[in-house]
Amino acid sequence: MLLELNDLFDVKTIRQDFPLLHQEVYGKPLIWLDNSSTTQKPQSVIDTLTQFYKQYNSNVHRAVHTLGIQATDAYEAAREKVQHFIGANSASEIIFVRGTTEGINLVAQTYGRKYIREGDEIILSTLEHHSNIVPWQMLAQETGAILKVIPVSDRGEILLEEYAQLLSSRTRIVALVHVSNGLGTILPIQEMTEMAHQYGARVVIDGAQGVPHLSVDVQSLDCDFYAFSGHKMFGPSGIGVLYGKQEILEDIPPWQGGGSMIRSVTFEKTTYEVPPAKFEAGTPSIADAIALGAAIDYLTNLGMNNIAQYEHKLTDYAMAQLAQIPGLRLIGTAKQKVGVLSFIFEDISPVEVGQLLALEGIAVRAGHHCAQPTMQRFGVTGTVRPSLAFYNTYEEIDSLVEVLRQIKLSN
Ligand code: PMP
Repeated sequence: MLLELNDLFDVKTIRQDFPLLHQEVYGKPLIWLDNSSTTQKPQSVIDTLTQFYKQYNSNVHRAVHTLGIQATDAYEAAREKVQHFIGANSASEIIFVRGTTEGINLVAQTYGRKYIREGDEIILSTLEHHSNIVPWQMLAQETGAILKVIPVSDRGEILLEEYAQLLSSRTRIVALVHVSNGLGTILPIQEMTEMAHQYGARVVIDGAQGVPHLSVDVQSLDCDFYAFSGHKMFGPSGIGVLYGKQEILEDIPPWQGGGSMIRSVTFEKTTYEVPPAKFEAGTPSIADAIALGAAIDYLTNLGMNNIAQYEHKLTDYAMAQLAQIPGLRLIGTAKQKVGVLSFIFEDISPVEVGQLLALEGIAVRAGHHCAQPTMQRFGVTGTVRPSLAFYNTYEEIDSLVEVLRQIKLSN
């Protein structure tokens, strides 16, 4: 069974595309299990970056010369790749930003400032990353709006009945993580969006951990905004995407002001470009956007459904193996989850476990994962968090489990 899947997906061949994976740390083969934090890059992404700077580095949109036109074409082609990858209706619904954090702040500072008033309610879930809490808290402080939080079960699943109770005609925004980075839970976004829309609320999705693991279609999710980061989906850091429905992007004010987002400027008055340019002030991360396009080509070639299927099996295997280690408490056991394998040992701190794993060449994150409310819900300050990507193998899971057993025995 395992062999069959490995053959189908051919992870050994896939790993050849990732130069960084082939190195030793403390004399041991590197095992990269910190994918929720950031992912490694295939050679095609690295080559795309190098090629840009070696062959056609130029600013975009303003140039009449050959390299400028080439850079602009590649930048806009990347936007179209993103559009198709997430099933958006039009490329003008795709705004390049620095990452998920910037995308969510953009929504809070534009849509939020225009529409949120004192007494309005913003609903979040317990599973949010700080980047989908703090921008809303800042907005609430500015406007007098109120934050409401959807609780989760002991498995880390959204309590839909409680969510239904929180929704009302006062709800203006529902901001949800697609996939929890602390626990791996996949939220039922389509259903939750439909429920929010019944009250006329707008739905903002933090897709940082959704896009790397699931086939995402924003039109069938029907969310109003969807934000994600290039570096978590095998692309460069410094680039990310905010998707917004066309009519909303046209309606809301711009965020940052500057070059590229204007039609005309006088000292008396400025008129703005249409989306997406309206939201892309200044010189963008051109090379990074183009290389994000290369990451999307890479993922599309592997097939998001194949990736999800392989990771699902690997996650089931890893969860079952970890559960057998004496004294290990798994945190986040949702039925629908990706390969985020949070756990604690009652008597060894997560940081200590992380450091001991590092000495064996195994990279994991240890701490609160920028999701302190999630940790508080489970009565811990942090966890050890191995997190999987499609280039991880069953053998790597076996090594992790073996080292954890040794750590447990000698502490
Ligand atoms: N949301 C989630 C669920 C995340 O995992 C992360 C990154 N850990 C972010 C948001 C923030 O992403 P970035 O730092 O790339 O803006």
